[in-house]
Amino acid sequence: MKKIITCLLTMLGLNSACGQQGYENVAVNEFDALLTTSGAVLLDVRTAEEFAQGHLSGAINIDVKGADFLVKVKQAIPADKTVAVYCRSGRRSANAASLMAAQGYKVVNLTGGIEAWKKAGKAVTTNPAFETDTFVTPSGRSVTFYSLMHGSLRIVFDGKEIEIDPVRRLGDRTVDYAAMPKADYIFVTHEHADHFDRDAIKILAGEKSTIVTNRRCADMMGQGMVMANGDTTTLAPWLSVEAVPAYNTTDGHLQFHPKGRDNGFVLNIDGLRVYVAGDTEDIPEMASIGNVDVAFLPCNQPYTMTPDQLVNAARMVKPRVLFPYHYGQTDVTRLPGLLKADGIDVRIRHYE
Ligand code: ZN
Ligand code: ZN
Repeated sequence: MKKIITCLLTMLGLNSACGQQGYENVAVNEFDALLTTSGAVLLDVRTAEEFAQGHLSGAINIDVKGADFLVKVKQAIPADKTVAVYCRSGRRSANAASLMAAQGYKVVNLTGGIEAWKKAGKAVTTNPAFETDTFVTPSGRSVTFYSLMHGSLRIVFDGKEIEIDPVRRLGDRTVDYAAMPKADYIFVTHEHADHFDRDAIKILAGEKSTIVTNRRCADMMGQGMVMANGDTTTLAPWLSVEAVPAYNTTDGHLQFHPKGRDNGFVLNIDGLRVYVAGDTEDIPEMASIGNVDVAFLPCNQPYTMTPDQLVNAARMVKPRVLFPYHYGQTDVTRLPGLLKADGIDVRIRHYE
């Protein structure tokens, strides 16, 4: 126990005598406590197949046997974060821990791996391996995006949880929201089933949750803060939001998302501006949003945009980073090439 305390102090920068190998080994209960108190990034270094069969809730998955292991670690985990790492039995994660420690990360390794975790009666989940992207705000704090599916995304900032259009099931894909922390904020763009799932909201909503949506969804739920196109509000010192238009413009499609009914949202998360467009085509209002760091633009027919429309929309929004989302079976692989000359970093994630 003394050793663990020593190491926890070390991670807080209060002590310099940590494990000789550059990282610390801890048992299940200490590992669990670390996850709930320290804001450490939880990393599963097994294969994607092993991960899919069950993993610790909230873990990201990077296979330590992959040739680009450290490259992916550096992309996903800010250098100042503590990494809580595990594998099946503790052997691969020990290897991963020393690799990461050599890169300067503070690392804690779970002794006995997920096998010991399960033996201790702790929960695992079968959520898929959500891809993550982390951005740093002007004040140096990190915002991580989890690509859940289609129109559903989870954003984590400083231990705060934001869920956008949480939906539990679409085709053969599922998201286990019960395995995620309660949401501090839930945003719902509109009433369609691929955006609005009352049961997902019920699972995520806790006593302190704020639900932000449009008039129609608020009426259907009997709760929620209503925002109309053009409304702005400050929800927390680190979070403000603007509701922006989202609608169809193509003849024959206008009934899907009539103008004025649904919302897109522009979130300002500690200075990082994030535009989640909702279901919309390339409407002129996009040109006046401005200063977008990260944009989510939809791409499927007949409900939202074609890839060509998405390119047009991206040139109006001019985000630093663009995630095409809500793309179903649409081939979005051309988009990074098409927008390269515009200086837009297009990242394809599993938002089918
Ligand atoms: Zn829709
Ligand atoms: Zn939709």
